[in-house]
Amino acid sequence: MTNPIPLHWQEPDPDVLDDLRAVLQSGWLTQGEQTEAFEGEFAHLHGVGGAVALSNCTAALHLALVLAGIGPGDDVLVPSLTFVATANAVRYVGARPVFVDIGSLEEPLVCVRTLEAALTPQTKALVVVHYAGYACNMEAIGRFAACWGLCVVEDAAHGPARDERGRWLGTYGDYGCFSFYGNKVVSCGEGGMLLCRDPEQLARARLMRSHGMTQSALSRQRGQAATYDVVTIGYNYRFDDLRAVVARRQLASLEARCVLRKQAVDHYRRYLSQRPELGIPFRNHDSGSYHIMPVLLAEGQSQAEAMRRMKEAGVFTSLHYPPVHRLSDFAFARGCELPVTDAYCRRTITLPLYPALRDEQIRRVVDSIP
Ligand SMILES: *Cc1c(COP(=O)(O)O)cnc(C)c1O
Repeated sequence: MTNPIPLHWQEPDPDVLDDLRAVLQSGWLTQGEQTEAFEGEFAHLHGVGGAVALSNCTAALHLALVLAGIGPGDDVLVPSLTFVATANAVRYVGARPVFVDIGSLEEPLVCVRTLEAALTPQTKALVVVHYAGYACNMEAIGRFAACWGLCVVEDAAHGPARDERGRWLGTYGDYGCFSFYGNKVVSCGEGGMLLCRDPEQLARARLMRSHGMTQSALSRQRGQAATYDVVTIGYNYRFDDLRAVVARRQLASLEARCVLRKQAVDHYRRYLSQRPELGIPFRNHDSGSYHIMPVLLAEGQSQAEAMRRMKEAGVFTSLHYPPVHRLSDFAFARGCELPVTDAYCRRTITLPLYPALRDEQIRRVVDSIP
């Protein structure tokens, strides 16, 4: 196979090895000053008062729902076109995920119309996903949620990103949840962040992140506290300083990398528009993180066959996502009707996208689509 084109490629930051060495030599590897610095930078970027770094985005979604007081007997609206973590977080608190369709194949995001169609008398909250790094219409969704008294959680795992009005995703809702998993836009292997406006809730999230303990291990290490109390049920959802330095470098280069991602997406849109049988979701979106590049195959074309033939040509693809309501453990939701999600998931494949992807590689990817 000549020069394979991977789905994703994480360019190592040239200076991050120095940062990692400094953390290793500091004698303190887990959550500490670097994590605090990262939280401060993340909150500052988003123009909010505080942020809580966590072990991953799934933990952020879980804590958001706990803080919102969601529990058994409650329904939470979630898209089916998402990673399973979005729906699993709802199950962690004992609530029921109620799946919401996407608005259209061109704009594969939940919208007020599809949220309204899924509303039940038990609905207490909704989780939106800014799929592929493109913004849901948060102004309209915010008005809808206020009208029904629903809590709004933004799964911004495909961010950080701004919408067309320049506002950062994850700052509209009551909670914003982010992922720093290995293939995400800001990545340090594993990690997550929770944004929330209420300082008391942020303080509770910090407690729940580390077993509900009143004192951190670092303050005991420094001799500032001799013992601790446990004041709420908590988890081990901590982040650590080794990953914090990697994530801080990634955050610093976010803007520049998103410019390159956008350029790659523009090339894709140009080449793909010469193939009228293919669909180009989000083709008119000119803001976002450009996290993934979905394309819709021709009606009736086999995804597996297309992916296999592209792989033979050295082009690696993926599928975002198998719809959650069709997964085995979500059999309880099999009856719900999500015709647009089903149609989208039958036709979509994800093309390679990363900042270093070159124009001629993009041409090769598009030419390899059968
Ligand atoms: C990656 C992802 C998550 C989970 O993130 P982790 O950090 O791996 O827990 C949640 N939701 C969406 C939409 C994702 O893509």
